[in-house]
Amino acid sequence: MEQRNKILILNCGSSSVKYALFTKSEKQLTKGIISHVGEKGKTHHHAIQEILKQLLQKKYLHSYNEICAVGHRVVHGKDSTQSSIINKKILKKIKEASVLAPLHNPHNLEGISAIQKILPKIPNIAVFDTAFHTTIPEVAATYGIPQKVSKKYHIKRYGFHGISYQYICEERKKEQGKIPSRLIVCHLGNGSSITAIKNGKSVETSMGFTPMEGLLMGTRAGDIDVGAVFHIAKMQNECRSIDHLLNFESGLKGIAGTNDMRILWKKYFKNKNAKLAIDIYCHRLQKYIGAYTAILGGIDTIVFTAGIGENCPWIREKSCQGLEFLGIQLDKEKNWKNKAKISRGKVNVLVMKTNEEKMIAREVSRLV
Ligand code: AMP
Repeated sequence: MEQRNKILILNCGSSSVKYALFTKSEKQLTKGIISHVGEKGKTHHHAIQEILKQLLQKKYLHSYNEICAVGHRVVHGKDSTQSSIINKKILKKIKEASVLAPLHNPHNLEGISAIQKILPKIPNIAVFDTAFHTTIPEVAATYGIPQKVSKKYHIKRYGFHGISYQYICEERKKEQGKIPSRLIVCHLGNGSSITAIKNGKSVETSMGFTPMEGLLMGTRAGDIDVGAVFHIAKMQNECRSIDHLLNFESGLKGIAGTNDMRILWKKYFKNKNAKLAIDIYCHRLQKYIGAYTAILGGIDTIVFTAGIGENCPWIREKSCQGLEFLGIQLDKEKNWKNKAKISRGKVNVLVMKTNEEKMIAREVSRLV
């Protein structure tokens, strides 16, 4: 009989299902993506059936009995502080949080429901992107609106990318023996955020009630005066399209026509908008690094991670330029070679590969 020692990871989005297969000892066997979900009648259920079929065909699995559990990336867990085995109570919580993350949680739920139907005996684990940030103090999480309103509608700063931040913290602990007490992590991907971590706990993060707040991103505006949003609404005489404008048509793409940092950098010295987009990106990032250094009362380590953080030395160089007074001093050569440690000053500046799937597999292993 086969051993039940494999963990399937599912990340269900609006138009795709990303997956990965791990062993219980955290070895990644494969990963991939099924696209075009929602098109031509293709549901999450179909996509997951296709994933399982492929895993068998390619012999990553000999039988479904080898799967000991399925880990789901769930974007919003409301006040959930940790990963949980999915039962009726947890499902209710994820459903309740759908109103707070309408672009994400409903698709996560579709994935959970599909796999529960296909493999009814296998436990499912929810790993929340918000859980890492439940330690953020009230003073940083509360918006300046009437408390009556924030309580009624659960309006507060939740923060996202928590699975990535937790992974970076655990890797630092493995490598250094402890998490640096004043740590800033910049998760710079198509969605970008930055988090201040004190003694291993998130104390501030740039994304807020939704992933829209904070840094300039691939297609999201990041910080914007809500007055400007109302002005656009008034001028356009409607509101619906503004959500789309700020989420999908803004950021690097809105300023320079593409959210691919590689293309933007190639154009940096000849195209005014490409230069402006990169300069705004770095300016905003630097502003947050400074602010979070103040929140932490100094800084020991700064980590750059995700697609841009791991691969774009120009972003790291520009955003750290002028921060020597904080002890942040880059070693230019090491930075341009994407080395793991890229600093010469008293603050450690590190480039680390994040691995959200591995973090989910680790959480699953802990729970089953
Ligand atoms: P992510 O969401 O983490 O996949 O990151 C996507 C962003 O990272 C996009 O802006 C990409 O252009 C950028 N990116 C990914 N790989 C590279 C690379 N090798 N060199 C430069 N930029 C990259």
